[in-house]
Amino acid sequence: MKIDKIRFIEPGNPPYKPGLRNLFVYEETIRNPSVGMLTLTTIVKERVVDTLMYSESISKILWDDVFDADVIFIGIFTFAATRGYELAKFIKDHSNAMVVMGGLHASMTYPEAINSCDYVLLGECDESILDFLYALKFGNPVKFPGIAYLDGGKLISTGSRRPPERFDTVPDSQLLYNYRKMAGHNTLWPQVHASRGCPHNCDYCAVVRHFGNRVRTRSVDSVLNDIRQAIDFHDAANPKRKMKMLWLTDDNFFADRKWAVTILKAIAAARFSYNFTVQARFEVGFDDEMLDLLKLAGFTELAVGIEFLENESFELYNKSGTREEIVRSIENIQSHGLGVRGLFILGADSHTKGIGKRLAEFVKQYRIKGVLLQSMYFVPGTPAYDTMKERLLHRDWSKYNGSVVHRPANMTPAELQLEIIRASRRIYSRRNLIKAWFKRTGIEHRLFIGEYLWQKSVRRRLRRELPDLRNADKQ
Ligand code: SF4
Repeated sequence: MKIDKIRFIEPGNPPYKPGLRNLFVYEETIRNPSVGMLTLTTIVKERVVDTLMYSESISKILWDDVFDADVIFIGIFTFAATRGYELAKFIKDHSNAMVVMGGLHASMTYPEAINSCDYVLLGECDESILDFLYALKFGNPVKFPGIAYLDGGKLISTGSRRPPERFDTVPDSQLLYNYRKMAGHNTLWPQVHASRGCPHNCDYCAVVRHFGNRVRTRSVDSVLNDIRQAIDFHDAANPKRKMKMLWLTDDNFFADRKWAVTILKAIAAARFSYNFTVQARFEVGFDDEMLDLLKLAGFTELAVGIEFLENESFELYNKSGTREEIVRSIENIQSHGLGVRGLFILGADSHTKGIGKRLAEFVKQYRIKGVLLQSMYFVPGTPAYDTMKERLLHRDWSKYNGSVVHRPANMTPAELQLEIIRASRRIYSRRNLIKAWFKRTGIEHRLFIGEYLWQKSVRRRLRRELPDLRNADKQ
């Protein structure tokens, strides 16, 4: 088969539409494009010169350019799966290209995904994608591990493949259509993913099912080059950029402590004049040497996966930790001059009415700078999904984006959604906006204002969904 032109597509849910509002503020239709897919695009580009990626998170797709590609890869997370299937069908109806799906959701639910495409690539594809293209090009059977397909209507899976040990490719941002223009937008931050895997097993976590429990890391040189290039690319797009913040997107950056220390020392030595943020489990808050290093390297905050306020919830979802430990960790992080951002889940079976208010009070009491609020999420293939299957309201994946999609134990779905709205309204109140306007400075000032506007647009969507939630609950 001819393999001269390859396109990658990241579906957006909802797809980005240029508008006056999203020129200036955070809002839902503009998101950072997938670093994972950009990495794969870079890997393939080395073998097939005419390779390009589109992301609906930042741009429309030029269909005339896509339809005559030989192979089109579509990568999906759960919340974008419905849109991904729509795009796959659209391509099938308008071109002869081979359509291949991959990504977290396609891997976890390949019996579903295969109905929209020719092949599904399972798990991490840094190595399998080249084997796959090679097999297609030379007409060899696609029989190595990591592939699913239909053979005469029968579903064939070649099983999972050993994840790559080395994944030092620095994603080339130039390969993403329109990124050069959009990267100047203050909402889009340089992102670097430096390690994969996590030794923990939280029941609702999909990434650990995708990347596994064994932590694998990139080389120091590769991470530093990536950081440098990502910063240069974003700053070149907007030399007057106000939000100088780089996000290390690892799910558990500190899992390999020795490596994390080496990376932080290298970042500190490189003296980037940039702010950094990274996700963290609470345990890092007890590691004084690490906190000092973070501060030295230019980190201004940690996004801590706090998730719940009650010990009962931690136990229910296999998340190690207690409220008392989390509070001690937050206080110690702050005492090192770092801010804490809180990632929270509402809708645990232990949650009762009033959880939104209690959460907002916790945020205020412990001076948490900003939050991500999500309803309990259910990604197929996770223990949380398997045990809650019967209590899910629907399988419209486009709504699996932080909204309520299940029947909680102690509230109706609509009541839970209202709790999320209340928590958001209290944390991002006008009063707190005025306080932030006058009391916060620099990047914190801009962040709160951006988040205030972004949360307003999130609340609008959550409110729009209330009638459907009430109806779904009656069925
Ligand atoms: S600690 Fe974080 S990355 Fe690890 S399993 Fe739990 S939620 Fe997933």
